[in-house]
Amino acid sequence: SNELAALIGAEIADRAAEWDLAGAIPPDVLRGLGSKGALCAEVPAEYGGHGLTGRANGELTAHAGALCSSLRSVMTSQGMAAWTIQRFGTRRQRSAELPRLTSGSLAAVAFSEPQAGSDLSAITTTIADDGDEVVLNGHKVWSTAAVYADVVVVFGRYQDGAAAVVVPTDTPGVTVKPVAQPLGCRAAGHADVVLDGVRLPASRVLSGTSQSLGLLTTIALTYGRLSVAWGCVGIIRGCLRAAASHARRREQFGKPLAEHQLVARHLSELLVAEQTATRVCEHASDRWDSASPELSGEAVLAKHVAAGHAAHAAATAVQVLASAGSVDGEPVARAYRDAKLMQIIEGSDEICQLILAERALEGVA
Ligand code: FAD
Repeated sequence: SNELAALIGAEIADRAAEWDLAGAIPPDVLRGLGSKGALCAEVPAEYGGHGLTGRANGELTAHAGALCSSLRSVMTSQGMAAWTIQRFGTRRQRSAELPRLTSGSLAAVAFSEPQAGSDLSAITTTIADDGDEVVLNGHKVWSTAAVYADVVVVFGRYQDGAAAVVVPTDTPGVTVKPVAQPLGCRAAGHADVVLDGVRLPASRVLSGTSQSLGLLTTIALTYGRLSVAWGCVGIIRGCLRAAASHARRREQFGKPLAEHQLVARHLSELLVAEQTATRVCEHASDRWDSASPELSGEAVLAKHVAAGHAAHAAATAVQVLASAGSVDGEPVARAYRDAKLMQIIEGSDEICQLILAERALEGVA
């Protein structure tokens, strides 16, 4: 995983600000990283992946997240698509789809719809059987990386339950409409995906049978939540580095900012955020690696804690840099916008709190 981290670092180099301002990552960068399996490094070796543990993949995700949250978001989508295929696909589907995702083909995941944001039980996209084919109709919104994607894993209603289908974006009836000027992660390629009578072989329905919608989305989102949580660790690490180095160099009132106690307190808060978010992510990833039944709850906790700390850390880092951090293109300014979105996606703060409150009530009369 050190080699993958070096590869990601070399590709991003000093270009994250440029990509953010342009609202796009050059596709050859994504294909290059994708072709080396770096965008979904947990995929097992038998499918052409690196087979990283959850913890190692988490550290790799944090490494990317410290440099460029847009690229990290693309990794989250690619990894979530791969995990959904690995978890729900038949052996034949895994063997057909996963080697593509480790050799340069790019993927997105589409749950959300105009009327189904936090409440995914309201999704209306349909997957209808028609002989050897299925026909998809629906409207998905805010699918991260869909602008770049060769396939979108689409979640919809199927038979008496739900299913996920691997939809090539060049299939007739698929329209990808980029989200204009998002607040943050501006180069992550968010898009609406409209499915208008999209016909595909029924063999593209993962597992071939209908599933519980709640189970399907929870399992896919658990990967996404862990990945976002580690991405937040990266945001915090980037903010800590930027704030500490500025506070050492910049002098006011005859001494470095770091020697003013109120600024030192900001630095201590950034360190506490980095340590706390790292520990909670390590804990959840260890649950992932041991396939613990507590995993989905731990992933919600990790995502909630890490996103909250990232949003606070980014605001703190902007405060320490002050005017020097108040310009588009500055890493802390970008982190400030990116971190806010982490409190919204993959289960907003409020949805995480509702899930955690259920846990708080467990076992209480
Ligand atoms: P709403 O559900 O309308 O919620 C609005 C507010 O009300 C929020 O604060 C919410 O927490 C609160 N709220 C809602 N219900 C309750 C409740 N019961 N109790 C308390 N508070 C509540 N979707 C995908 O499918 N694939 C992607 O790749 C993807 N990437 C995204 C990337 C970004 C940057 C963003 C911003 C969104 C992305 N989304 C994606 C969509 C994302 O999952 C939704 O935005 C998210 O689930 C929230 O839904 P919503 O925006 O419709 O807000």
